[in-house]
Amino acid sequence: MSTNSRPKRYLLLPCYPTTSSDDDLLLTNVSIDELDESQLIQRQLFGYHQPTTYQNDHEQWIDSLSQSWNIHRDILQFNLKKMLTLLDQLAYKRMYHFSTHPQEETLYEDEYKIALEFYLQMDYNLFYMKTCSYRGAQPIINRPSSIFSTNERPPYGRYTMEACHQKSCSLCYPSRQIESKSTVQHIFVNGYRSILNCPATCTTQNIIYVLTCPCKQFDYIGETSVSLPQRLTYHRKHGNRIIKEFLLGKKLTNYINGDTIKSYETLVKDRMKLYQHLCYCSVAMQHFLDENPDYWSFIPQRLTVYEEQEQEREIKFVDHHQYQFANDVPVPTNMNYHFTTEQKLNIEEFFQQKKYLTQSNSHFDFYQASIIAVLPEKASSVLRRFVETLFITHAQTKLNTFGHLDADDSSIRVQSNGELCYENLVRPSI
Ligand SMILES: [Zn+2]
Ligand SMILES: [Zn+2]
Repeated sequence: MSTNSRPKRYLLLPCYPTTSSDDDLLLTNVSIDELDESQLIQRQLFGYHQPTTYQNDHEQWIDSLSQSWNIHRDILQFNLKKMLTLLDQLAYKRMYHFSTHPQEETLYEDEYKIALEFYLQMDYNLFYMKTCSYRGAQPIINRPSSIFSTNERPPYGRYTMEACHQKSCSLCYPSRQIESKSTVQHIFVNGYRSILNCPATCTTQNIIYVLTCPCKQFDYIGETSVSLPQRLTYHRKHGNRIIKEFLLGKKLTNYINGDTIKSYETLVKDRMKLYQHLCYCSVAMQHFLDENPDYWSFIPQRLTVYEEQEQEREIKFVDHHQYQFANDVPVPTNMNYHFTTEQKLNIEEFFQQKKYLTQSNSHFDFYQASIIAVLPEKASSVLRRFVETLFITHAQTKLNTFGHLDADDSSIRVQSNGELCYENLVRPSI
């Protein structure tokens, strides 16, 4: 790969401190026989732990990590600095965007080790944590035992996310949504691969998770201190609300809400690409409509020129009905979208019978969810967010509004073709 064609995230990866060329990626997940000659020499000469004497506490700390991961102390020192730059970058971005205080953005002293452990084992196209030793995980023993992959076996997953089988769990009940085989590793939309670092179940807390749209073109990475099903309840609530508000339009949403002003939190959610995408994705919209058939009335239909003329005639001569609500439902202005007379009547009925009060199915999720990494039980939110950010950056998830370290976040845009979600929908035949 020539230097110019490399994506910017290449520069954020761990590397050797040896030269000024940025061709020296650390490649901890690449096995010895996959290295080219110069990479192999580099690893053999400069990669592994060397005995040394140390002067102070910091040097002692570096040396103990150098021994336990069998990696050269100079590499650790160099990449610790590199990682601290990224931590700072994230902190400044958050302070700027969310007006947080510096103390809310500072890692606990004893968490630098875990942060570094994640940072060093996130390669260009694979996250594979071989050294993990918390929450039931066992470090992988290769010879030589090391943070670097050897030839003994290719990267493989040893842990799965197991179902908890509890009736209260939305991932296990009413239908199992977890296939343990598929939870060993995850492949993101951009092809980035991650292997689960700890055993997990639906009840595991302090995790990084991924949500993938059923269209398979868009994904999102999140972090949470609670469990995945608990977190999904929250996403479900906002997803359902935003998709309904999109279909009903501003005016009728205000009518339903009695003109109450939205909270700051709700307004922030409204702007999240994760939820906005649902309104532009016909696959997600189809799932929503299959679950909530009352809302078919709000999906305008595209008419041919002939049908359009017929419709106009109908309105002129037959349809004297004054629609109270149907007139306020938004219709895309171009491409001949209309509501049929039947739909308009259904919309009136929908409001008269207050069908909008019907609760959505509390087990229905728009997105396919998986745990991708487990953090220590007591991990701070700063650590969680840092690991999340590394994943967001390397998996280049398009639905994250914030967190891409290699980009100005405003430069990542969701495809927003206002008409798109209406295309390709399959209406139920009556
Ligand atoms: Zn469960
Ligand atoms: Zn989608």
